[in-house]
Amino acid sequence: MEYWQKLMSKSFTDGATLARCLRINKRDLCRVEAEYPISINPYYLSLIREKNDPIWKQCVPNIHEIRQTTGRIDPLLEEKYSPIEGLIHRYDDRVLLYVSNACAGYCRFCTRKRKVGIKEKILKENDFIKAFRYIARHKAIRDVIISGGDPLLLEDDKIEYYLKYLKKIKHIQIIRIDSRTPCILPQRITPKLCEMLKKYSPIYFNTHFNHFQEITDASIKACNMLADSGIVLGNQTVLMAGVNDDSHTLKRLFEGLLMMRVRPYYMYIPDAVKGTYHFRVSIVRALKIMRELIGHTSGMAVPRLILDLKHGGGKTPLLPRYIVKRKGRRYVFRNFENRKFYYADIE
Ligand SMILES: *Cc1c(COP(=O)(O)O)cnc(C)c1O
Ligand code: SF4
Repeated sequence: MEYWQKLMSKSFTDGATLARCLRINKRDLCRVEAEYPISINPYYLSLIREKNDPIWKQCVPNIHEIRQTTGRIDPLLEEKYSPIEGLIHRYDDRVLLYVSNACAGYCRFCTRKRKVGIKEKILKENDFIKAFRYIARHKAIRDVIISGGDPLLLEDDKIEYYLKYLKKIKHIQIIRIDSRTPCILPQRITPKLCEMLKKYSPIYFNTHFNHFQEITDASIKACNMLADSGIVLGNQTVLMAGVNDDSHTLKRLFEGLLMMRVRPYYMYIPDAVKGTYHFRVSIVRALKIMRELIGHTSGMAVPRLILDLKHGGGKTPLLPRYIVKRKGRRYVFRNFENRKFYYADIE
């Protein structure tokens, strides 16, 4: 057993034990547990500094998860866009491969709350072969995202098996791996894994940090190891009420990520998923935060703000308004400092 697997085996996975460890009442935890799985590994748990801090809120169940009646279990209609088991084909040129529903911890805000952690489900060999054939048949697909759950909870051999197969398809230009492990279980990033991934360049790796408290010596080391292996690192953040919905927190997070060679890629408005409404942030608030970031830190530290439209509408970028008005050739702009500028010579 590798060290990361040992850590995983020591995860808190039941409400009663977790409640004892956190010295809180077990009643709420056990009620949530009946509906959504719990799992917090000892590393991520050690990042909690106090009750209800941003780490706590992301991993400790909250009674609101089961009290809410709004939201859907699959607002993005991922199941509808799944032509075969384990494959989501929403955009012509790229597909998402759902290889495992296990994660290194279950995030309370997860968009795929309906399926992660509920009875372990790994993409069956047979289904992978079908997905592989589908991708091979569809020449427009040039980008394959290996996702989940968390694909890095699979063993190195299994991941290599997927990569090896996908590499055989001529029209696949890039492979992406989506994994939260550099943040939530950085011990998963081992020299052996990096050696293996290196062989399948170009690999793009999107990880998932939401708060600067998640930036630790261990996570910095993990990201540096990946970057040293020639992997291009990006980060997807979920904007969440009470966790990271202010520009100071995000600035510190995004600047910290750049320092560990991770480029902030997307920041999501939370999806309308049932059981996650206590994390919702309004578009108005999100745009205000973007205005406080754009121009106030390196452009590279500012991810694109994304709303994934309901009913499978797809990812839509949102930007604050910089054009105040236009009259003929005259535009009025608002600059990053919120001052007005007039231009009269632009078509
Ligand atoms: C997000 C997503 C992608 C990738 O979108 P990009 O904008 O290219 O990062 C692909 N397929 C599905 C189903 C997705 O949800
Ligand atoms: S690691 Fe990702 S897929 Fe897994 S529970 Fe967290 S947000 Fe969901």
